[in-house]
Amino acid sequence: MRLNIAMDGPVGAGKSSIADAVAARLGILHLDTGAMYRALGLKALREEIDVQQETRIVELCQGLKLDVQVGEGGQRTLLDGQDVSSLIRTPEVSMAASTVSRYAEVRKRMVALQQELAAARDMIVDGRDICTTVLPNAPLKIFLTASPEERARRRWKEMQAKGDPASFEEVLAQVKARDEQDMNRPVEPLRRAEDAVLVDTTDLSFDQVVEKIVEMAEVLRRGE
Ligand code: C5P
Repeated sequence: MRLNIAMDGPVGAGKSSIADAVAARLGILHLDTGAMYRALGLKALREEIDVQQETRIVELCQGLKLDVQVGEGGQRTLLDGQDVSSLIRTPEVSMAASTVSRYAEVRKRMVALQQELAAARDMIVDGRDICTTVLPNAPLKIFLTASPEERARRRWKEMQAKGDPASFEEVLAQVKARDEQDMNRPVEPLRRAEDAVLVDTTDLSFDQVVEKIVEMAEVLRRGE
């Protein structure tokens, strides 16, 4: 059986770092699907295309030269042949990604690419619509969340460590704005799949969350 773990959740729930740790423990790969929408967001910013213009963004997406390489050493996201893995981590790109991901034609192309990647190898895939749309038949589905304040606090601490002067209030406002946009878009809004296990990390440590998910995956592997 292909061990695919599907994981969704709102911004700042820790999906990426949790998925990295779970993948390392289980000896499988991690596909971060947000990076793909971010690459399109970055391309739009570079070409100075207004992200609100659906037709132009869909055209841009159709011609997008995007290559995602997932390996034991992590993921490399290549845009027009350039490794943009760190360039896509800015707040501007986050917001652009959230906007371009609203368009149905964009999602169609990204979902197809994600399904192709996940069919080839055992992997944990994280995003917003993985349990509901990309891998609805995954043997393990998780909805990872935490309160907005806790998610903002974690993001803010990370930003502070990098010397970013943003205030906690600013970060909280950004988290709430992206939640709002991700949960209220008409096409595939972020929601918990009925059969996804809810993991609320507000009062759990990083290691406790990893342990919990690894245990569930081990049970599956043993075929219990
Ligand atoms: O997960 P990350 O913050 O990198 O995702 C960036 C944006 O891409 C999110 O705000 C969300 O709007 C979008 N996204 C999505 N579907 C996914 C992954 C990300 O719509 N599967």
